[in-house]
Amino acid sequence: MLRAGIGAGLGAGAIWGLSGCGEGDGDGDGANDGANNTGADVSRPGAVPTPAGMVRTSWSTDPYALGSYSYLPVGATPQARAALAEPVGGRLFFAGEAVHADNPATVHGAQATGYAVAAAVDNEADAGELIVVVGAGIAGATAAQALVAAGHEVIVVEAQARVGGRLHTVRPAGWPVPVERGASWVHAIHASNLADELDALGVATVPFEYADVVVGADGELADDDFTDGVSDAVEAAIEWADELDDDVSLADALVQSGAAAEVDAAALAHFLRTELTTEYGADADELSAWWGTEEGSEGDDLLVVGGYGALVDAALTGLEVRLGWPVAGVAHGDDGVVVTGPGGEVIEADRVIVTVPLGVLKAGAIAFDPPLPAGHQQAIEAMAMGLLDKVWLRWDEPWWSETAEQWTRVAAADDSFTEWFNLAGLTGAPVLLGLVGGAEARGWAARSDDEVLAAALASLDQFRAAGF
Ligand SMILES: Cc1cc2nc3c(=O)[nH]c(=O)nc-3n(C[C@H](O)[C@H](O)[C@H](O)COP(=O)(O)OP(=O)(O)OC[C@H]3O[C@@H](n4cnc5c(N)ncnc54)[C@H](O)[C@@H]3O)c2cc1C
Repeated sequence: MLRAGIGAGLGAGAIWGLSGCGEGDGDGDGANDGANNTGADVSRPGAVPTPAGMVRTSWSTDPYALGSYSYLPVGATPQARAALAEPVGGRLFFAGEAVHADNPATVHGAQATGYAVAAAVDNEADAGELIVVVGAGIAGATAAQALVAAGHEVIVVEAQARVGGRLHTVRPAGWPVPVERGASWVHAIHASNLADELDALGVATVPFEYADVVVGADGELADDDFTDGVSDAVEAAIEWADELDDDVSLADALVQSGAAAEVDAAALAHFLRTELTTEYGADADELSAWWGTEEGSEGDDLLVVGGYGALVDAALTGLEVRLGWPVAGVAHGDDGVVVTGPGGEVIEADRVIVTVPLGVLKAGAIAFDPPLPAGHQQAIEAMAMGLLDKVWLRWDEPWWSETAEQWTRVAAADDSFTEWFNLAGLTGAPVLLGLVGGAEARGWAARSDDEVLAAALASLDQFRAAGF
C-alpha cells in the first residue's frame, strides 16, 4: 500500500533485450531477483537512454505471496479481518497484514499484529511453552521476538531461503541504493514506532511529500488543478453508496451516483489509476465502495532508503529460524499442534502462529486439520489479494532534470507504467521507481523482462518529450 486514505511496449524485445549479464542476486538467497544489466542502446536516438540496470517484481507469481497485499472487495467488510484474527481453540493463531483492523496492507499494521498475537499467545500459554511461528515476515518476526522475550521457546519456519517476506531489500551489484522489492515507505509515521526503530538500526529514511507533476494526454505538463474536485467526487460516490442496502464497487458508485459525470473523465481516470489502484492494488471496479478505501491511518510518510529489510533481520537476531521450510499442514487440537513441513518433517509444539499472506491462505497451500472454522474460511474467501508491482531502473547519470518526487502521465489506451518515483533528488542516485497496480499489473505479471523494459522506456520517453 502506498498511502492511507483517498487522498505497449515497443514490441522490440530483441532490440531491447537484457544483455544477460545479470547484476547478481542482491540478497544471496540464490533466487532470481530480476536484477539485470540492460543491453546497449543502439536504436533509440533522442529517447531515454537504456538503463544500466533493472529490477522488476512479480508478486502475483511468487508462490509465497500470491499478490502484494489484501484489500476489501465488494461485499467484504473489516469484520473479515477480525474473524481471521480469532484464535482457534487457543492453539492456532493468525497474524499478518490482512488481519490488522486499522492498517492492513502496511508494514506497521503487520508488525502490530505480531505484537498482538504474541500477547494473545502468552496469555494462553504456560511458561516455557514451544510455539511455532509460520512465516518470517515482519508479523512473524515480531511475534517470535516478543514470545522469546516472554520466556517461551520459539521456532520460526519460513518457506523461502530468506527472511523478510514482503519486506525484501536487495543490493545487486552496481546499484547506488538498496532496492526494495516490497515495501518502501513508512506510512503515517505517527501511527507506529517504525521511524524510531529504523533510526535506531541506522537505516536511513527521508521525508516524502509526494510532490508530483502530471503530463497530460496532450504531452504537455498538466495544470496544478488538473484533478481538482476528483477526490470530492470519489467521496461523494462513497457517501452515496453508504446509503444503499447492498455494497457496490467504487466504479459503480461513481457512475450510478452521478459523481463521475461531474468531473473531467480523463482526470477521474488518472486519479483512480495513480491515487487508488497503485495504493490498494485493485481497480475501482474491484474495490468495495463501502470499505475499499476506508482503511488506513492518515499522516506523513517516510521513504526508506537504507534498507527496510533490516527491521526483520534485527527482530530475528538470535532466534531459531528454519529456512526453506514450507509448511504444508497444521494439525491442531486440545493437546497441542503438529506442523508439517518439507518431506513430511514435523514439529510438535504447544501452539502455532500462522502469518503467511492472505494469498497463500486463499490458495489452500496449508491444510488445516481439523479444517478452519466457517468464520475463518468465509473471511479468507471474502477478502482479496491486490497487486502492486515495481520496476526499478538505474542509469549511470540522470537523463532528467525534473526534480519532482512523483511523475505521472495521463494514460492513453494501452499505456502502461505511467507512474514513477524520482529518487535522484532524495538520494542523489540516478534511479527511477515505476509502479503498476491492479489489472494492469496482472497483465504484466507473466510478461518477460524485455517486454516490461520496453514498455517502461516507452512511457519514460513521453516524460522526456515533455521536457523532463
Ligand atoms: C510491492 C509492495 C509494496 C509495498 N509497499 C509498502 C509500503 O511502501 N509501505 C508499507 O507499509 N507496506 C507496503 N507493502 C505492504 C507490506 O510489505 C506488507 O503489509 C508486510 O510486509 C506484510 O508482512 P507480513 O508479515 O504480514 O507478511 P509477509 O512479509 O508476506 O510474511 C509472510 C511470510 O510467510 C512465508 N510463507 C508463505 N507461505 C509459507 C508456507 N507455506 N510455509 C512457511 N512460510 C510461508 C513467506 O515467504 C513470508 O516470508 C508493500 C507490499 C508490496 C508487495
